[in-house]
Amino acid sequence: MAVELARENGAPAGSTESRQHLQQSPLAIRGLTVTYGEKPAVFSVDMTVEPGRMTAIIGPNGAGKSTLLKAALGIVPPVSGRVQVFGKPLNSQRGRIAYVPQRASVDWDFPTRVIDVVMMGLYRELGLLGRITGRHRAAAKACLDRVGMGDFATRQIGQLSGGQQQRVFLARALAQGADLYLLDEPFAGVDAATEKAIIAVLKQLRADGKTVVVVHHDLATVGEYFDNVFLINTRKVAEGPVAQAFTAETLQSAYGGRLATAQVDQLATAPTSRHPQTGGAL
Ligand code: ADP
Ligand code: MG
Repeated sequence: MAVELARENGAPAGSTESRQHLQQSPLAIRGLTVTYGEKPAVFSVDMTVEPGRMTAIIGPNGAGKSTLLKAALGIVPPVSGRVQVFGKPLNSQRGRIAYVPQRASVDWDFPTRVIDVVMMGLYRELGLLGRITGRHRAAAKACLDRVGMGDFATRQIGQLSGGQQQRVFLARALAQGADLYLLDEPFAGVDAATEKAIIAVLKQLRADGKTVVVVHHDLATVGEYFDNVFLINTRKVAEGPVAQAFTAETLQSAYGGRLATAQVDQLATAPTSRHPQTGGAL
């Protein structure tokens, strides 16, 4: 039975260590392949997210980063592979995961107040027909305060700037009270104040023992923001602590010709310094 389980998880058969690691991981993915058409978007990927850490998912455009998160959440079906959340099947753990999608994928063309967006994060607590009470409103307001958007509670979400909307979506994720936070490019196209506010909230979540996984496009801030990295280009390229897995070699391998060698060296050896021309963003 034990051996069977290990095989199912993709760990070496009989490896007690791998099995325990898998069970404790907030997100463990084994042999995941996703295709939209003929070509795989994600191919045979293993990922083991470490608890209580901030992990960046990094790779070029079209590398399968968003697809990896969506498959981890069951939003897109995999061709093959297995996802475990806190050592259990995804379906039994959904309430413990909060997800902030890539901003461009959300279109607010009907009037919705900011506070109502945040209260969507409470739906598990409320149920479909639950009555919203003052306590729920206060909880949602507290989450808005945490992202510095408390003054915007009654504004229409569609009237906010992209950065402000992004903070509201983070507040909605906070309202869920999840243990695992998955964010897809939360810093893309946001203002500096928003970036600072978001990173402060994520670091606080980590201090509270939560696990944070972020698809991240700005290579220059990886060393400053994250503990671990997961490099992907359809296949996994590297995974582990920044100092070990975010190197000139792994970057070159993930980005190929898309990064100049000089740039790779600079980013990998001094990850917190911004590249003068590109700001490190790709
Ligand atoms: P990333 O987030 O790293 O930019 P994606 O996961 O969005 O990459 O996309 C990976 C690949 O899958 C790309 O080649 C992309 O064009 C393709 N793809 C993504 N979403 C879809 C979709 N809904 N239908 C068809 N192809 C898709
Ligand atoms: Mg993406």
